[in-house]
Amino acid sequence: MFQLIIFGPPGVGKGTQAASISEKLNLQHISTGEILRKAVSEGTELGLKAKEIMDRGNLVPDEIMNGIVKETLENINGKGFILDGFPRTLNQAKALMEIFENLNFNEVKVITLTADDEEITERLLKRGRSDDTRDTILNRLNVYYNSTTPVKEYYEKLGLNMNINGVGEADKINEVILNKLI
Ligand code: AMP
Repeated sequence: MFQLIIFGPPGVGKGTQAASISEKLNLQHISTGEILRKAVSEGTELGLKAKEIMDRGNLVPDEIMNGIVKETLENINGKGFILDGFPRTLNQAKALMEIFENLNFNEVKVITLTADDEEITERLLKRGRSDDTRDTILNRLNVYYNSTTPVKEYYEKLGLNMNINGVGEADKINEVILNKLI
């Protein structure tokens, strides 16, 4: 089993690719955005906290996110998985490494999907989720460049990162990713 982190800016296609690869390779798809959206729709304490932050395009605090991922991974029962939307800060990346070490997960792979801002903004506006308004998108891109890109450098330094062009047909991109993995 391996541990795949799918990384990249908002709207680059992480969710679509992670869903398809997890099905093809029988991996668990762990999307922190989905976990939060579910909490919001169920009106849980977490959901109430997260809603406003998400609507503004800001990041839910690291302690909360690290706790959610730790608990999810502790209950994964030996299954391989794809992390989609986590880590998004250096603090999360370091916490994740510690979780991996504690659980003896040592087949970590990182794929970064790339696309330019214009392409991403157009895609997000078409998708039309409640946090896909122009203002929120702008903020999410800022947050990505300020808080999240250091994560990419962190994995690059560890020699784990593989860049893949996220522009083009989803099926073709999917094939490129699969070829890198198997
Ligand atoms: P996503 O579906 O990955 O685009 O995530 C939607 C929103 O959920 C983000 O804009 C953040 O507000 C929040 N979120 C998801 N994952 C994380 C994370 N790892 N750290 C902090 N906030 C997150």
